[in-house]
Amino acid sequence: QDPPRTAGGGSARLTVLAGPTAVGKGTVAADIRERFPDIWISVSATTRKPRPGEVHGVHYLFVSDEEFDRMIAAGELLEWAVVHKAARYGTPKQPVLDKLADGRPALLEIDLQGARQVRETMPEAQFVFLAPPSWDELVRRLLFRGTETPEERERRLETATVELAAEKEFDVTIVNASVREAADQLVKLIRSPSIPGKS
Ligand code: 5GP
Repeated sequence: QDPPRTAGGGSARLTVLAGPTAVGKGTVAADIRERFPDIWISVSATTRKPRPGEVHGVHYLFVSDEEFDRMIAAGELLEWAVVHKAARYGTPKQPVLDKLADGRPALLEIDLQGARQVRETMPEAQFVFLAPPSWDELVRRLLFRGTETPEERERRLETATVELAAEKEFDVTIVNASVREAADQLVKLIRSPSIPGKS
């Protein structure tokens, strides 16, 4: 027998993970994807070009500007934002609603602007801020990544400064000192029935 489901869409909850650039949100999400396959992670649409090794439909839905315009106009995105003044990123809405209705925990790994939009439309979600162990460490990670041009790095650093100040808007903070520990903490929050600081 299947376990009973709560009427009107199950008991599963949406968790939103955000934090400054290069803090390791993507790495933490990838670790969860690998070790906890029962947790569904949203695949964002983006207008940026794929990096080597990135797969359409797995890491992102890589779409044209025209397609992104169409998704916005059709109301298909739960949230969207221009990130690092470079490209647009957005969360397709229907898959998220479907997973929650199915009783499956869902995770969004998005930027701060997107997290603010989700708080407007889905305030019952749980908002988790991923913080670096220190500012120096964040800068080191940003430079170490090496995938961007110097101009891009400068832009990301500027964004990160503003983003660090946003921690107070979140329900919970996880410090990303070790990817595995941060992922374990996040999974515990995703599965916990109540949100710290929320009734
Ligand atoms: P990257 O280009 O390095 O993969 O991601 C750049 C930034 O875009 C990251 O901070 C990531 O959190 C953010 N991002 C990825 N997907 C989404 C999305 O669907 N919505 C928003 N608002 N930001 C996203």
